[in-house]
Amino acid sequence: MYHQPVLKNRRTLLERADKFISDVYFTDSNLRGRLYADSCPLESLTSFLCPKRITFTEASKQNFVPYKVGDTFGPTYVILSDFISIFIPSMLGTNPSLMLVQGGGLAAMVWRDGQPVQGLTKEGEKTSYIVSECLTDEVPHSVTLYVEMACNGLFGAGQGSMIAAPDLNKTFSVQRAELVVFNRDVRKLLTDFEMLVDIVKELGEGEQRSYQALYTVNEMVNLCDPSDPSSFSKVHSLAQNFFSQRNGESQHTVHAMGHCHIDSAWLWPYEETIRKCGRSWVTVIRLMEKNPEFVFTCSQAQQFQWVKSWYPGLFSQIQHYVKKGQFIPVGGTWVEMDGNLPSGESMVRQFLEGQRFFSQEFGIHCKEFWLPDTFGYSAQLPQIMNGCGISNFLTQKLSWNLVNTFPHNTFFWEGLDGSKVLTHFPPGNSYEMKGKIEDVMKTVKQNKDKGRANHSAVLFGFGDGGGGPTQLMLDRLRRVQDTDGLPKVKMSTPARLFSQLQADSALLCTWTGELFLELHNGTYTTQAQIKQGNRQCETLLHDIEIASCLALCQDRTFQYPAEKLQELWRLLLLNQFHDVIPGSCIEMVVEDALRYYEDIRNDGAALLNDACGALGSKGDAAGLFNSLPWERHEVVQIQDGAGKPGLGMSDTYGIRYVVTFQTTTSYLMLCAISATAALVQVPSVGFVYYSFNTGTLTSVAPFVGFREAISDSSHGNQFVMFDDVPLYWDAWDVMDYHLQTRKPVEQVVQPVHVVSSGGLRGSVSFSLRISEKSTITQEIIMDAMCPYIKFSTEVKWAESHKFLKVEFPVRVHSPNGTYEIQFGHLQRPTHRNTSWDWARFEVWGHKWADLSEHNFGVALLNDSKYGYSVHKNTMTLSLLRAPKAPDANADMGMHHFTYAVMPHSGSFQDASVIQCAYNLNFPLRLFQCSPDTVPWSAFSVNNEAVILETIKQAEDRNGALVVRLYESHGSSVNATLCTSFPVKEAWHCDLLEKQHPTQQAHITSEGITLNFSPFQIVSLLLIL
Ligand SMILES: [Zn+2]
Repeated sequence: MYHQPVLKNRRTLLERADKFISDVYFTDSNLRGRLYADSCPLESLTSFLCPKRITFTEASKQNFVPYKVGDTFGPTYVILSDFISIFIPSMLGTNPSLMLVQGGGLAAMVWRDGQPVQGLTKEGEKTSYIVSECLTDEVPHSVTLYVEMACNGLFGAGQGSMIAAPDLNKTFSVQRAELVVFNRDVRKLLTDFEMLVDIVKELGEGEQRSYQALYTVNEMVNLCDPSDPSSFSKVHSLAQNFFSQRNGESQHTVHAMGHCHIDSAWLWPYEETIRKCGRSWVTVIRLMEKNPEFVFTCSQAQQFQWVKSWYPGLFSQIQHYVKKGQFIPVGGTWVEMDGNLPSGESMVRQFLEGQRFFSQEFGIHCKEFWLPDTFGYSAQLPQIMNGCGISNFLTQKLSWNLVNTFPHNTFFWEGLDGSKVLTHFPPGNSYEMKGKIEDVMKTVKQNKDKGRANHSAVLFGFGDGGGGPTQLMLDRLRRVQDTDGLPKVKMSTPARLFSQLQADSALLCTWTGELFLELHNGTYTTQAQIKQGNRQCETLLHDIEIASCLALCQDRTFQYPAEKLQELWRLLLLNQFHDVIPGSCIEMVVEDALRYYEDIRNDGAALLNDACGALGSKGDAAGLFNSLPWERHEVVQIQDGAGKPGLGMSDTYGIRYVVTFQTTTSYLMLCAISATAALVQVPSVGFVYYSFNTGTLTSVAPFVGFREAISDSSHGNQFVMFDDVPLYWDAWDVMDYHLQTRKPVEQVVQPVHVVSSGGLRGSVSFSLRISEKSTITQEIIMDAMCPYIKFSTEVKWAESHKFLKVEFPVRVHSPNGTYEIQFGHLQRPTHRNTSWDWARFEVWGHKWADLSEHNFGVALLNDSKYGYSVHKNTMTLSLLRAPKAPDANADMGMHHFTYAVMPHSGSFQDASVIQCAYNLNFPLRLFQCSPDTVPWSAFSVNNEAVILETIKQAEDRNGALVVRLYESHGSSVNATLCTSFPVKEAWHCDLLEKQHPTQQAHITSEGITLNFSPFQIVSLLLIL
């Protein structure tokens, strides 16, 4: 094969080939230097600037002024519309490919004939647009293009480092704009060379194929004369001979799928994401036109919705390629949401909105959940996926674990209730591969299930900021479809990958419980206002849906606000994106997110008001609406007949639209309250004694018998500060070493003094100084009949890289703490035996966490927090962080939040900790009604283990409601759902509200009887 023997000098041969394609060295004589031939400037360049995106029609009517290459534009995020006229001179030859080359940090979209045709980004290796594939005399030599440019790069405009807060005064310039002749044959040969050089490097000195590649590529350099294109075909066929030597049958198969991870907001605002989707996806369509085998997977219904609204022409092209099976919607969710913080119902709605959108627009039902870049995965996700018709799951983020290496790549993931999903982590540990030899080799080498699973995914295409696949990536993968010594590579789809994995799954292992990411644990706390907005809006939408269903039943003329509710849910779901709710986004995104919460609150308040108004006759008496299906005796803030504020004691059972209350002081709550102690009446316990010391709790104990909750010589409600300087990911990470910097907050500004002196409510208040700039003011509230003590907290926060927490050292000894998650709870260790235990030094939970031993425990409840830790007997709630990137002002300012501590006898289940945490989060809602309105109870459940979570109107089905319940204790139980609604039939349905044709629920005179297994979610369609 070779015309003469070569010396056995691997290094010189390899470097020789490397230099032959180098874009740095010897470009005067190497092959790379021949990639572009003649060039000429563009005929004219004109532009205009505008602060935000406008439609193409509007843009084309603007007054464009001339500019030169190198002129600067700005500031950051301004849109530059470029009008370019091109005349292609005949000196460029008759048959070249002509390209517009655009450099610089601008992200751009080329428009031609009124349609978007090509995205351009330097970081995404798309810097040129092919003006003409084949320039014959018949092709017009005069072309007009519009280029819409955003003054930001693919990753925003961070100052100094990528995740630094953006420089909003940055300027940008167009660095090159010219016509050049692109030499396609040179491109083809460069790919051959590059792939062979990489094979030599990747296979290394231990592999015979590595040497065969080395001698092949060396001979190609011998034969190739860059200045003589006639030498190229011989060189190409040498490479082809190598690539076409085939594998045996047992070789691993790599399923290559194009992908373009686009963060719905991160280092750029939502607005820019719309343009990112347009730029990235139009480029995908161009690639599909040229490469009929090319498959592209694409998640997040919200992004499709944006493109549908802003680029309707592109959207119909996408619909065409979806039909052809090349453009594949995946994931089934509205956005790629955070996997920890959204409530169970929010997660269901992510799928409900996502799957319904894909079905309506494309006739597609996603069979796989797709969440490659999210910071941990709730143990309830397998059940939620199964309930939404999904049996497969793809992610890779656990490869980011800082402490432990996750042991599987392909496995069954078993959730809290025992539901299972087939799960694949692409072994290359990336969702943005480039189709290089290194990528396909890593996919086999790093695969921890080699021999068990013979198939793996490679997702290729620039990601995070968009960009997507390139022609070069496709060319690379095409070369090595079946090349001896390398894994087989085939363009594939998620369906094909998972069906191969499923068919051969007998040896796969099972992982039970949550997929906890041992990194980014600061995201449970960063951007407290976003977290609070999420929690409050989740509860508000819950209440609106229930009140509207009650109104619908009471008043048949009432219009259920389905469309408006969908709009508000979609805003909430959007903010659950995996860089928004975690707080890892820039300030512009935070502003957008808080504005969306404000929209939900404002519009939601009106909807709730409408529904309550439709429920009863108007009047000036105070009524209360209870959206929770159990007995509530709570102190509520009301107004008396004269409009004066006062307190009342609510008296309700079940979901009711009028809750009665009394204002008598028959609840002798406080025998005494002073600045140091209080005595409170609590049902089933008797009286509880609280003792304060400068705001901390030194004692919480029932007055008679039983036991003390606070640990000996310790203080509960102890505020503590930590230094919080991570290694890199500022808003994301709190590192284990921060625990060594604990400092109690002890400086008293205002000592404890009595605010409410007794009767239904007693409270004391005090202030502490955190630092010169930050203070805490807290009111400790004790309500009659309330088994927990509330801490209504106001923090003025102006810190830098500090972490504020509150601690409760409790007199409980247990190896595990319990944390509420979506539709249930789970346990995590309180000790640090193994690396898997101590890696969870900061964990997430929802409304409550509990530490219990047999017959006694303490629960910590909250109204808007998600970060917890329980180490030995100290329960800690994480309150505020102060990272400086990517938002330099993250969490600065005033914060209001409430948490509560609840000592209890028995188990937390028997003590109704779960119900108490709901009560804290779902306040009884005050509304005006006529004084003779008759209270009406709509729903209740006869078993405390079962929570009625949701009541809503069924999608697409008039006269039907959906109710969703779950078993919350971790037990197998029977329960009866009692309702005063005129239910004709009740059917079990899935989470997408599809009726199970054979599972009719049994209705008795008592109600609807149901069976539950531990943590099971049950949805019913009630036909009225
Ligand atoms: Zn992401």
